Amino acid sequence: MYFLSEDERKHVLKGLLPKSRELSVAEELRGWNWPRPPLEPMYPVRLALFEVAGKYCPNGRDLFLRRVQGLTRKPTRPMLAGAAYHETLVRVLVRAKRYIYEKGVDRYREIFIALRETPAVDPGAWWIPEAGEALPEITARAELIHEFEVDRVAARIRDCLARQAHIAEDSLVALAIPVVLEQKLDGSILGLSQNLSADALTLSEPMVVDLKFGEPRDFHRLGLVGYGLVMESVYEFPVNLGCLVYANFRQDRLVVRKEFHILDDELRQWLIEERDEKMRMVAEERDPGVGSSCPRYCQYRDVCHPS
Ligand code: SF4
Repeated sequence: MYFLSEDERKHVLKGLLPKSRELSVAEELRGWNWPRPPLEPMYPVRLALFEVAGKYCPNGRDLFLRRVQGLTRKPTRPMLAGAAYHETLVRVLVRAKRYIYEKGVDRYREIFIALRETPAVDPGAWWIPEAGEALPEITARAELIHEFEVDRVAARIRDCLARQAHIAEDSLVALAIPVVLEQKLDGSILGLSQNLSADALTLSEPMVVDLKFGEPRDFHRLGLVGYGLVMESVYEFPVNLGCLVYANFRQDRLVVRKEFHILDDELRQWLIEERDEKMRMVAEERDPGVGSSCPRYCQYRDVCHPS
């Protein structure tokens, strides 16, 4: 799901990348300028990126209830499903890398057999006991993702082997699966958690990829720019592009759509404003009040709408 099609690659390489390089980002909005305003955090509070970038609650009251009032809730069904699907995808890609090293180029056909024989769902997965009656549906969809991704990886490995007669294992991994999964990043110098985990980073160009199962929302771009800023603060190179991957199910089909975004000044400022506002709310223990249009799946409906 993280791999670009030929058309998408052209769009990124010939269109978006040159455009993003021409578009100059204000120096003070680059992550490496974290010790100075406006990036310098104003409060000692540290927030997870999903707490800054998530705007499912119109007032951010979910953050107040969790961080100030200490109220925790079990994950909702969409949260569990999303976690399970992410886990499935990571499982396929990490195993594919491992099998390439283990089996080697000469026994490449065994890589495909091993991948197909790997169960889509880890029987010990943390979310299984929580899933209840949703378990069969989540498992069936995880199997669809597994099937889809195994076929994609196998095709990419075959393609690399066909084009590179003398390729060795390490290079095959880098060419066929050019992503780092769940990259751990320390966002503490930007007022974010020190245990951030980006879904994927592409190696061909510094690009953050965020995978979503559900409907597109405008604020999903905040997560991309958040990871981009953190990468700039940690590695001190510019990150100009992000990609949102939306995966949805149509009966037994998986439909995948990608949205590319330039991490421009406007997005960076929006993220900083959200961070500052939410930090202030937590630091000053200020209740933002109940929202006027609460999603029906919110974990805190029993608190905000007790009737
Ligand atoms: S019920 Fe409404 S106000 Fe309360 S946390 Fe959920 S979305 Fe926010």
